[in-house]
Amino acid sequence: MLIFKKVEEIKKYLRPQQQAGKTIGFVPTMGYLHEGHLSLMRKAREECDLVVASIFVNPIQFGPGEDYDRYPRDLERDRKLAEEVGVDVLFVPEKEELYPPDYATYVEVERVSEGMCGASRPGHFRGVATVVTKLFNIVRPDRAYFGQKDAQQAVVIMQMVRDLNMDVEIRVLPVVREADGLAMSSRNVYLKGEERQAALVLYRTLKEAVELVRCGEKDPEKVRQFMADRVAAEPMARLDYAEVRQWPTLAVPTKLEGQILLALAVFIGQTRLIDNMVVEVP
Ligand code: AMP
Repeated sequence: MLIFKKVEEIKKYLRPQQQAGKTIGFVPTMGYLHEGHLSLMRKAREECDLVVASIFVNPIQFGPGEDYDRYPRDLERDRKLAEEVGVDVLFVPEKEELYPPDYATYVEVERVSEGMCGASRPGHFRGVATVVTKLFNIVRPDRAYFGQKDAQQAVVIMQMVRDLNMDVEIRVLPVVREADGLAMSSRNVYLKGEERQAALVLYRTLKEAVELVRCGEKDPEKVRQFMADRVAAEPMARLDYAEVRQWPTLAVPTKLEGQILLALAVFIGQTRLIDNMVVEVP
């Protein structure tokens, strides 16, 4: 596995490969890799000639007071894991490499960035859309792989790719969970003591809400309120949002039909966790 830190160097390596007709699969991450990330890399390995992954904790997608400084980092471990699943090229730029002091350009995706995580984390999706655009321009992948864990992020990226005519196929893969149902996340390491058990409230609530919808509940507001109440019943949890949306448009439904996204953001102590499920309503 090759490791590049400089934009010009990775470009110089990749362009001849692309000219020779190799397809490139790309997995952007913030590192501290877990099975969720690795599932994307394995899929890229299956589908593409060359697998490129990036590890970059993107400062501009963190708000003031968020966890940019303490976000977990372990490049040595990540390097081994990426190599084991067959990543060919790892891109690990420093923050100054992507954002030099005179940096001035940002990508703003309207509508689908608003509400949900966009409401709780102002500027977050502007930071995500900007870094993903930069990484796409550097790597020029044929396919890029994202997790449904970050459902709104996947929708923002798909909208951006359509709107800006980017030549990349976006693949969205299922949420990977721990054995007890907790969605894998680099941030799970923040959970201390009893918080780990309390964090199961997201999975439990989503499963119960899926059941409620499957049993015939058609009123989105009833389902949303049900989820909020179930989270409120966990003493260590504080609800950020519970949302019921059409998938994958994120439109607010008046009646539950078609593909429905049930999404939660919950603070367990200081740690903000997100999770979601999509349910098909006949
Ligand atoms: P991150 O490093 O958190 O920015 O995540 C990098 C990519 O991995 C994003 O596309 C995430 O949606 C995806 N990802 C993170 N956690 C999971 C998970 N538990 N299951 C599937 N994909 C995930």
